[in-house]
Amino acid sequence: MPELPEVQAHAERLEDDFAGATLAAFRPLAFTALKTFRPDPAELVGEALASVRRRGKHLLLDFPSASFVVHLMQGGRLVPDEKQSLKPRGGVARWSFEDGRALLLTEAGKERRAGVWVLAGEVLAQPPLDDLGPEATDLDPAAMLGLMHAHPMRLHGFLRDQRILAGIGRRLANEVCHAARLSPFASTGKLDADAAAAVVEAIGLCVAESLAYERSRDDMSKSKDRPGAVHGRAGEACPRCGDEFRSVTYTSYRVDYCATCQTGGKVLADNTTSKFLK
Ligand SMILES: [Zn+2]
Repeated sequence: MPELPEVQAHAERLEDDFAGATLAAFRPLAFTALKTFRPDPAELVGEALASVRRRGKHLLLDFPSASFVVHLMQGGRLVPDEKQSLKPRGGVARWSFEDGRALLLTEAGKERRAGVWVLAGEVLAQPPLDDLGPEATDLDPAAMLGLMHAHPMRLHGFLRDQRILAGIGRRLANEVCHAARLSPFASTGKLDADAAAAVVEAIGLCVAESLAYERSRDDMSKSKDRPGAVHGRAGEACPRCGDEFRSVTYTSYRVDYCATCQTGGKVLADNTTSKFLK
């Protein structure tokens, strides 16, 4: 799933390319695409795209009277629509502009989870944005420590919970835990000020690295190409200590970590995999 750096760089690209373009039509291509009834997107026809922003993992296309909020979920992409075919593969929604260009929201696979909301007024105070936590990169160590103690849970899950802090997903959670030298299974309720400071620093470093990479590209990267030390590298050597990366596998994601750097040498039980092996 695209996380904070991928969505941020993409918002910047879309704004560079499409800001000022006048909306000629918005058309949902899948019946699940549009998540709101009012305002009617037709009311935005004739307005010029003012800006493209990001909040958490959401893209915001701002027009003077309302904004389109787009959530790409796992396999969604919002890209310039070169062909503008009648039934594009994986098509979810299309924005057509008076200059003849268009933006197409597509979603790979069979799941139809990517969606579009049209919001007027206080956009950030309405669903789906109203229950997001603060931006992950906006927290200082004291605020981070406060959030940790207010939400006692495993660190990896804490980092991924968009209602606690917004923008971090499975990949960055792995990277942040490794960069901070903290166990992904550490209980946030027991972490101290030094750990909170290490997490804040790690988020800054990991996001900056990914953002620099994304900004060097002209389209959103595939997850396997994204930079990082530990995510998806189980079995490879930790660049910091040389130990072999280990992993714990869940149904929809995997926690990758270095036992030497993060868990004091302790190898965490991989219950899911060991069940299969029996
Ligand atoms: Zn290591």
